[in-house]
Amino acid sequence: MPDLRDLYQEVILEHSKAPRNFHTIAQANQKAEGFNPLCGDHFTVYVTVDGDAIQDIGFQGSGCAISKASASMMTQAVKGKSKAEAKKLFDTFHKLVTTGEANGDRNDLGKLAVFSGVSEFPVRVKCATLAWHTLQAALEGKQEKVSTE
Ligand code: ZN
Repeated sequence: MPDLRDLYQEVILEHSKAPRNFHTIAQANQKAEGFNPLCGDHFTVYVTVDGDAIQDIGFQGSGCAISKASASMMTQAVKGKSKAEAKKLFDTFHKLVTTGEANGDRNDLGKLAVFSGVSEFPVRVKCATLAWHTLQAALEGKQEKVSTE
């Protein structure tokens, strides 16, 4: 069995203690709420979309260290990107946390690569991907609450 401590790398702990873009955005034109009942992670993601670009992004809520760090690092990774780029990054990230592999796209992940250890802990995959699923729902203008179950 892999050691659980390996999952909580320094960068993940640091982001969970001091999440970036951890605030609402009053002028956001897209937002969505996501919930992971298995763990209790619950976040709302706010996005200001200008044309096709994610101009600003923030989030609020509470959850475990993995879910919060993932949300924090996601906001940094997608800010300034196009919707299509954010979707592609999510696909790569999802592959990484479910299989531990990202093939040729690994360079696109940057710091997000620290989440590769999540693939050893299937129950944590939902924590790591909650914010991403919620972002997709926001970008697609979905009104209903996102649930990982
Ligand atoms: Zn969690």
